Amino acid sequence: MEKIVKPLLEWFETHQRELPWRKDRQPYPIWVSEIMLQQTRIEAVKKYYTRFMEELPDIESLSQVSEDRLLKLWEGLGYYSRAKNLKKSAQMIMEEYGGEFPQTYKDILRLSGIGEYTAGAIASVCFNEKVTAVDGNVLRVVARLLGSRENVLLPQTKEKFKKKLQEILPEQSGKFNEALMELGETVCLPNGSPVCRECPLAEYCVSYREGLMGEIPVRIKNIKRKKEEKTVLILWCKGKFAIEKRMTKGLLSGMYQFPNMEGYFTEEELKAKLQPLRILFLGKAKHIFSHIEWYMQGYFLEVGEPSEKYLWATPQELTEKYALPTAFQPFWKKCHSQPEIFIK
Ligand code: SF4
Repeated sequence: MEKIVKPLLEWFETHQRELPWRKDRQPYPIWVSEIMLQQTRIEAVKKYYTRFMEELPDIESLSQVSEDRLLKLWEGLGYYSRAKNLKKSAQMIMEEYGGEFPQTYKDILRLSGIGEYTAGAIASVCFNEKVTAVDGNVLRVVARLLGSRENVLLPQTKEKFKKKLQEILPEQSGKFNEALMELGETVCLPNGSPVCRECPLAEYCVSYREGLMGEIPVRIKNIKRKKEEKTVLILWCKGKFAIEKRMTKGLLSGMYQFPNMEGYFTEEELKAKLQPLRILFLGKAKHIFSHIEWYMQGYFLEVGEPSEKYLWATPQELTEKYALPTAFQPFWKKCHSQPEIFIK
């Protein structure tokens, strides 16, 4: 494994992508980008990152932003607890570290929403601490290099790979960690399609030598998600849509949503229950969270009087002000893209 260090670092010098958060390796931009990248691809993150940094350029502004505005800035990225943890950590940095980002792996790991990988990435890239940063990309590269058929989703496999990397970690630990991640993102691609002929490590790679790229890494999942059926109501009344705020705890907490009911309701049942002036079926949509799957059907309903149970928002307010979870977007987009059919 130690043979990979030099060619990998040389390759990174000439092949690294220009990314907005890479300009000067400062902890705040690296932190925000790492949290955004936890569940989202780089290309998709760029526009959210730019918008976020324009409005919240430093730890202090993040620590003071209102929750509604924060969730709006995070809209589209999903997994909203990440945004809330960012703010919580920014407040902790203001109170406990006088606004200076903590500089050691151990201290960074204390922040909310930061796990071993992110702490390792920030500590090594920004402060050159000799720690590893092992994410899914790195696991894939190491498994292929070693020709290992161990399940990379198991903690013990991760620990084993971390140990191997720690043994070969050079002084430029940050560069090395970034280079491994970059290789995983741009060359050693998932789903059996790595571009091995462009890989600086091909001559040291067991999978390449033995043609195992399609079989490694081994990923055996054991997730059982709860399935829920829902009927989503896009209620329209006198130029406004009904929305409501979700609970302050739990899934999508603090976000706004269209009213919805557990189970599937027929058009007849909704007519009897809500007596709409008009009703239109919006189709079905599915959304998968980490532990729950929502199977939804949506209806557009024009009602005569606005119920006080809901907050009523104009289409513009819904676009600009309220953070609407991605799960509801298919129904919203359908109404929004063909207003002549729905909004009369
Ligand atoms: S040679 Fe291919 S499989 Fe091996 S590390 Fe490089 S890209 Fe990945």
